[in-house]
This record gives sequence, C-alpha cells and structure tokens, in this order.
Amino acid sequence: AKEQGRNNFQFYTPDMNFRAGELLMLETELRKAIDEDQLVLHYQPQVHMASGALVGMEALVRWRHPEQGMVSPGDFIPLAEDSGLILPIGVWVLRTACAQNRAWQEMGLPPIRVSVNISARQFRQIELVRTVERILAETGLDPAWLELEITESSIMYDIEAVIQILQELNAMGVRLAIDDFGTGYSSLSYLKRLPVSTLKIDQSFVRDITTDHNDAAIATSVIALARSMGLEVIAEGVEAPEQMAFLQQRGCYRGQGYYFSRPLAVEEFTAWYRRAAV
Ligand code: C2E
Ligand code: CA
Ligand code: CA
Ligand code: CA
Repeated sequence: AKEQGRNNFQFYTPDMNFRAGELLMLETELRKAIDEDQLVLHYQPQVHMASGALVGMEALVRWRHPEQGMVSPGDFIPLAEDSGLILPIGVWVLRTACAQNRAWQEMGLPPIRVSVNISARQFRQIELVRTVERILAETGLDPAWLELEITESSIMYDIEAVIQILQELNAMGVRLAIDDFGTGYSSLSYLKRLPVSTLKIDQSFVRDITTDHNDAAIATSVIALARSMGLEVIAEGVEAPEQMAFLQQRGCYRGQGYYFSRPLAVEEFTAWYRRAAV
C-alpha cells in the first residue's frame, strides 16, 4: 500500500480497513481510469524453454495513474472485483488484447496465442460467451489465437454453471487454461469434465522448486497429471536456469517468467516478438 501522492489514498486490498469515503474516491478514480484511457496492457512472453521460441504471451493490465504512476493489478483488481468495475475493465482488456494480437499478425509476425485473465466475477456471467464472440468478430482474431485463463477458485464457485460456459467457449474454438493450478481445491474428478487445454503451475510452487520437497512434489504431480490427461502444462514465475532444468526434466517444456522476460509494453514486446520469430 502506498501513501504518497496528493490524494493521499491507499491502494486497495480486501483486508484493508477503509473509510467509506476513501473507498468511494478510489472507485471514482478507477471508473475515470477506464473512460480516460489510463489502463494499459503489458505482455509477457511464454516460451518453449529448450529453444527459447515464443509460443504465446499473457496480457497483464496496469493502471497508469496520473499522480501515483504505474499501479500494479494486485492493487486495484480486488477493488474492481468487489465494485463490479471488473466487468467494463474485463471487456476493455479482452478487446485490447485481441486487437493487439490481430495487429501483430497483420504486421506479418507468426501467429501465437494471447492469454487473457478472466476474474471469477466475469465468469459468473453467461454474457461472457457473447462478449467474447462479439470481440472476436470485431477484431477479426481467429478464436484459436485466444486463450482465457481462469483460476481454480472461480471454477469451483459454481461448477455446473462454469462447465456450461466453458463448453460454449470451447465450442467457439477459444482455448482455456486453469491459472494458479494447485493452489485451490479443485477435485480431480471435475478436471476431466472441464474442456480445458492447459494447466498453469502456480509460481508459488516454482519459486523453491529446487530446494523445497513439497513444492517439487506438487509441481511434479501437476506435470504428470497434465500429461496423463493430454493437457498442455506451463510453469509461471521461472526466474532461474535451475528451475527451468528441473521443470524440463519432469516433462514441462513451456515457461513464463523473469528468466525469459518481464511483462513488456507493446513496443518492447514487438521487438522481442520480431527477434524470437526468426
Ligand atoms: P497472474 O495471472 O498469476 O499473473 C502472473 C503474475 O506474475 C504477473 O503479475 C506477472 O508480472 C508476475 N510474474 C511473471 N513472471 C514472474 C517471475 O518470474 N517472478 C515473479 N515473482 N513474478 C512474475 P502482475 O502483472 O502484477 O499481475 C498480478 C495478478 O493480477 C495476475 O496474476 C492476475 O491474477 C491479475 N491480473 C493481471 N491482469 C489482469 C487482467 O487483465 N484481468 C484480471 N481479471 N486480472 C488480472
Ligand atoms: Ca494469469
Ligand atoms: Ca498465476
Ligand atoms: Ca496469481
């Protein structure tokens, strides 16, 4: 939480004790941020670790606040979820990421997937399916080049409704990934009913993968589970070559993390994409 800046408000986390007035001010600012184009997307490469080939990218939102500077999503996505502002933000993120991916393809770069985070609240709405359909039509992006990342906890919230929504998205040709896999409580018996194509190993298991036996065991089981179910698996938060080697030895070949690149602004990502695309 930050306390500098003329407004002297703190950014929001759910466990903070806010006075109603402060919360309202932050919410008003966030609402304005949407209208005044203060949100930006950064893109983080996802690579085939052995070759370094670019296989995809994750779109990550930031708030370019006029006084506070760049605000990270952890400081405003929770408020956006509680206030419902995640719905317009989510639409903006989806449209921007799809339009950008289409623009890269039109520049002649080899097509890769863009992964977009979808929050629990967006996911509880059947309109999500229509929204995705409309945005794909508007931007001209082939559904195969879009992947939606949903967390384990949002799937478990209302499993029957979620399966229905996932099936419709899957039928449209959109790819689905389970984010932060291993951190929630998903029952393995549900996993086989979900039309997902990718499991994403949470960075909390990757961090100490070479030193902590429990983390190593969890990551190893997630990889084995994915492989036995014919799912793709990707590790997030890869920061060191030893982590990469460990993952590869156990059959996880895709990674995302600071070892390869931090999330990049569009121009920087474009340069990276060009280099990785040769
Ligand atoms: P996430 O989906 O788990 O995204 C991965 C986070 O890990 C990102 O943080 C990324 O910058 C960070 N990261 C990537 N590589 C490394 C690494 O090697 N080491 C470490 N320590 N961290 C790494 P970021 O961008 O701050 O996003 C935080 C969270 O905010 C995301 O976690 C996601 O849950 C949420 N978020 C971000 N963008 C969106 C969005 O457009 N919509 C929604 N609903 N949520 C979003
Ligand atoms: Ca994610
Ligand atoms: Ca994650
Ligand atoms: Ca996370």
